Amino acid sequence: MAALEVEILTLFPRMCAGYLAESILGKAQEAGIVDLRVTDIREFAAGKHRVTDDAPYGGGAGMVMKPEPLTEAVLAARARLPGARVLLTSPRGRKLDQALARELAAAGRLVVACGRYEGVDERVTAAVDMEVSVGDFVLTGGELAALCIVDAAARLVPGVLGNEESAGAESFGGQDGLLEHPHYTRPPVYRGMEVPAVLLSGDHRRIERWRRREALRATRDRRPDLFARLRLAEDDIRLLEAGDDEL
Ligand code: SAH
Repeated sequence: MAALEVEILTLFPRMCAGYLAESILGKAQEAGIVDLRVTDIREFAAGKHRVTDDAPYGGGAGMVMKPEPLTEAVLAARARLPGARVLLTSPRGRKLDQALARELAAAGRLVVACGRYEGVDERVTAAVDMEVSVGDFVLTGGELAALCIVDAAARLVPGVLGNEESAGAESFGGQDGLLEHPHYTRPPVYRGMEVPAVLLSGDHRRIERWRRREALRATRDRRPDLFARLRLAEDDIRLLEAGDDEL
């Protein structure tokens, strides 16, 4: 059995299937580490025309997703994946962050329902465990949000990233709540911009110190909100102001 089993419920399965089949997630599926499926909500719509939306009660612009097809799709997914956490994508939901991604990766089974149009009939929420937002902006549908959620959770499953360490040091990933240090690869000089000499030194202790300093500085300069919550050791405070020759 895969370590993470996911079913995305959408009116536009192809939007999701293409993304999930490529690169790291595609390989992880081939390796059997994750199982990522997409189900068309329309399969659960009744009648010859399989209608999934209708005009809003009380009037107003746009269409609303009817409660029955999405609820039926959720119930069928719950039956296939017993114990799954069922999420509904919604700008009103809990905001996705790395802590939530970790929680969802650990859950092992996820169902993610995508809204469209003006949104979904409120009664669908009775069938879901949690509403999740990917940020304070409005998308045309839940598919990109579902892919963000699934991607962020799946890459935390052991074995999905080739190098076990890749998910450790990165932004929000470590125990220390820092943004990640910058990366460089070849060539050593590009358009007159040089790779920091420390990284070419071969001195692993200094490289680690440099990376720590850059992570501290990036967090201070870009995300003062995160920086304010850090409990810095004396050495970190010194490191923040240290020049390259003092590392
Ligand atoms: N009328 C709604 C927006 C509907 S957008 C409102 O003002 O709140 C249509 C669908 O896109 C939503 O049902 C939801 O599933 C998805 N969606 C849009 N923005 C999102 C976001 N920031 N996070 C998660 N899902 C989102």
